[in-house]
Amino acid sequence: MVATVLERPTLVLNRNWQPVNVATVARSLVMLWNESARVVDPQDYQTYSWSDWAKLAPPDGEPFIRTIRTRLRVPEVVTLTDYDRLPEAAVAFSRRNIFKRDHYTCQYCGVQPGAEELTIDHILPRSQGGTSTWDNCVLACVTCNSRKADRTSAQAGMKLRMPPVRPTWKPLYAAHSVRIASWSKFVSEAYWNVELE
Ligand SMILES: [Zn+2]
Repeated sequence: MVATVLERPTLVLNRNWQPVNVATVARSLVMLWNESARVVDPQDYQTYSWSDWAKLAPPDGEPFIRTIRTRLRVPEVVTLTDYDRLPEAAVAFSRRNIFKRDHYTCQYCGVQPGAEELTIDHILPRSQGGTSTWDNCVLACVTCNSRKADRTSAQAGMKLRMPPVRPTWKPLYAAHSVRIASWSKFVSEAYWNVELE
């Protein structure tokens, strides 16, 4: 029971309160103890040091961590106090990041019809063993996507404007499959950031 609570995810914000990562509760408590992070109360945005946090009694029915002296509330969001401690992570292969890499532009014809009119195209179709990876996925407008259909770009005679590669910018935060309701205040569009299968 304790192990599973400690393995729960905590959203990690940088000093500007932008989500930068997801850490385990155990890791967050270590950062709290080290004073490299403070717990954020998602209700009122108050932040807590380790000693402040340890004084709070866990509300009835909420999970808690039993320590020698006390019951500790489980943090859901923490904010880093030291900007230099940003966690390193590769750019997540997410819908948002594909749109960002391709500048909301169809990689075949170059139109920018808006996000709703753009789809993610597998250059080598999944039906032919194509993978969902940075080098096999590009944005395509609805027209190009239906024209290309279930063929490779070469088979369809359609040229890519740029070779697709994994972007090198620093991600806002690493995508993570587990999310907690209170995170929505900090992560407004989970849809865009969820790791694609
Ligand atoms: Zn197009």
